[in-house]
Amino acid sequence: MAFPKTLCRSALTVLAFVTFAACERTPQQATAPTGPQFSRTAPAEQDPLLARVLQINQQLAASGQHVAIEALDFFTVGNGRPGVRLHQTPFRWVPNDPRRLADGTNITYIFDQSGGHTASGLTAAQTEAAVDAALATWSSDDALKKVALVKRPDPGTDITIFDAFFGFGGFGDPFAADIVDAGFYPRAFFEAVGGPGGGRGILAFSVSFIFVDDNGNPTDINGDNYLDTALNEVYYNNTFGDPASDRAGNPWRINQPLPAIDVQTVALHENGHSLELGHFGPPPDAVMNPVYAGIRHAPLPTDDAGMNAVWQSWPNP
Ligand SMILES: [Zn+2]
Repeated sequence: MAFPKTLCRSALTVLAFVTFAACERTPQQATAPTGPQFSRTAPAEQDPLLARVLQINQQLAASGQHVAIEALDFFTVGNGRPGVRLHQTPFRWVPNDPRRLADGTNITYIFDQSGGHTASGLTAAQTEAAVDAALATWSSDDALKKVALVKRPDPGTDITIFDAFFGFGGFGDPFAADIVDAGFYPRAFFEAVGGPGGGRGILAFSVSFIFVDDNGNPTDINGDNYLDTALNEVYYNNTFGDPASDRAGNPWRINQPLPAIDVQTVALHENGHSLELGHFGPPPDAVMNPVYAGIRHAPLPTDDAGMNAVWQSWPNP
């Protein structure tokens, strides 16, 4: 397409401005997920999961809870599965937030040992070590040097809530820790959440909850122009490597290449969501690509840039 030179130049000027403006925008916008993502404006009837999430949020409000599901992000093999996000405004952890019993400016996590063993033969100790390694990787990332990721011991009680709405657990303590790596759940759970085929395509997913007020509206108590994250839960699909399943050939393993699925790689991705990163790419290749592509134990440049954008000013808004 040809343009007169002057028009071209002004278009370039506009483009440059837009590019510059994009760089100057808030961190989340600058690193907006580019992976498959459910359109936020689509009517609920077009996505049964979105409709279900809205229903769950009504149930939460009716029971006096001041938390609501804000985002679901799926990590898959093969085809991607669009996630769900309810608002345009991104969400962030609030330092010292008394509502979630925050550990000061630390971010806390728990590995739920009761769900740690896999049908592929891994013990809870093995998968816990892989999740710990993933958190340690993010913790040692330059972008996160101002926040400590603190592990809490598994209290042995119910510490998850999302599973309760699908009949796969009780409504536990939402604030046992900021992040709960909930362990390995049955295929039927992933089929129920992700829809038909979800049970064989979804490796894991992350659920982010935000705080809402008495009217169900999102809060921003520290005035940082982000919604306030309340808790995050990560669920892993036990189908992979189950000898009785059609995913027997893709078993959860420790540090084994495809066709095995490496626990630490998936945990690094999922806890990237827990630390507020969305999906991006590919390209470029990144831990936060929405489809599994083999072992990745270290953040790539785009992951680092995303983390830096999210955490650079912590704990100040
Ligand atoms: Zn993901």
